[in-house]
Amino acid sequence: MAVCGAKFCNWRSGKRQPISSRCYNSKQMSTEFVIETAGKQARAGRLITPHGEIETPVFMPVGTGATVKAVPQDILEELGVQILLGNTYHLYLRPGVETVRNLGGLHGFMAWPRAILTDSGGFQVFSLNELRRVTEDGVTFRSHLDGSSHFFTPESAMAAQIGLGADIIMAFDECMEYPADPARTRTSMELTLRWAERSKKYFEQHKHEVPWTGDDHVGTAAPGCPVERSSMGFDGGTAVGGEKSGLRPEGQPWAAVSTLPEKTQSLFGIVQGGMDLDLRKESAERTIEIGFPGYAIGGLSVGEPRERTREVVEATLQYLPTDKPRYLMGVGTPEEIVEYASLGIDMMDCVLPTRAARHGLLFTSEGKISIKQARYTNDAGPLDPNCGCRVCRRYSRAYLRHLYASNEVLAQVLNTLHNLSFYLDTMRRVRHSIRLGEESRFLSGLWSQPKP
Ligand SMILES: [Zn+2]
Repeated sequence: MAVCGAKFCNWRSGKRQPISSRCYNSKQMSTEFVIETAGKQARAGRLITPHGEIETPVFMPVGTGATVKAVPQDILEELGVQILLGNTYHLYLRPGVETVRNLGGLHGFMAWPRAILTDSGGFQVFSLNELRRVTEDGVTFRSHLDGSSHFFTPESAMAAQIGLGADIIMAFDECMEYPADPARTRTSMELTLRWAERSKKYFEQHKHEVPWTGDDHVGTAAPGCPVERSSMGFDGGTAVGGEKSGLRPEGQPWAAVSTLPEKTQSLFGIVQGGMDLDLRKESAERTIEIGFPGYAIGGLSVGEPRERTREVVEATLQYLPTDKPRYLMGVGTPEEIVEYASLGIDMMDCVLPTRAARHGLLFTSEGKISIKQARYTNDAGPLDPNCGCRVCRRYSRAYLRHLYASNEVLAQVLNTLHNLSFYLDTMRRVRHSIRLGEESRFLSGLWSQPKP
């Protein structure tokens, strides 16, 4: 009988969960991914990280500068957020990686005990068109804050992400412009592959430098932080519709997490290749050869038509291992996140719900609403009659319209809260549908279904 040699691993041939990326060889893993229900394409499962479990498919709110703009962390917990995204570029510039590291990494600094993912900084750096220069070694760029010059390499991007201490970190990749010709696309893909190898090499040598490795801080908030009381969030997380979003029975916090063989970060690889399906295949295969515990599809949502995005996602997915989490970066609208989940994407992030909220654009079960419009001046109804969030339960459209028109700070808070609730509730319904084997209902009438 085959037995895994890794310390802490109980795997034996024949007893292993059929679809789990947990420690199926002697390589130590710091995340575990378990698929609990798999349909034709979509799947529902759990991603276990050193800072808690994540139900997948998951939408990850973006907390650019160690904050999801306008929403305090305790409310994010109440909304059932299980993982947040932080932007390395922004945090590197302000407040700086060393500052965050010295305060316990992002978890301690922002008093967020649940999981965090950081991007590599590449996407932001490459969106600074006028301010950057790319060489084999890395990228020179100028800060959008003060114009100062900086240099990111795969190694320094890894060092920054290790210092920030997210549970999942991303390889440094080149985010190519759109459109791009075939030669340029191949050159960029090859560079990303070389950078992926360098990212992994540096990570493997330095991952134990993460601010929380090996200590009992794992799964806890900053000392004295009130969120410590919440048994790491999985006791509650009451969802918008009243569903308990936590997986863990009360009184048994973190049992599964504490069995992770290795409590450190996980580095995910990123598949590039532009809009070229052959290059996407090659990029996927060669990234898998390098070997990562999860794979992201990058370089999309860069201005291409939505049908093209879907085509590339579908084409790329068929080359990604089914037992590893698949992360589609930077999407999308509520309809899009449902669609991608139905294709078998496990993780997504997007600034859309939070950014749109700050501009008065609200997503509802009845479509998009621009709350600034005069037609809502006397509208006593809730923003979304089918939403159970604390905003829709309490306030009228007229009041929300007034707050926005008066430029009140509360407008941003309430609008963001509703939009995030709507996204998280949408994903909750998607997971519920997958578990019931009702994938076909995904794309039609998801919002008219009774709440799970
Ligand atoms: Zn609402």
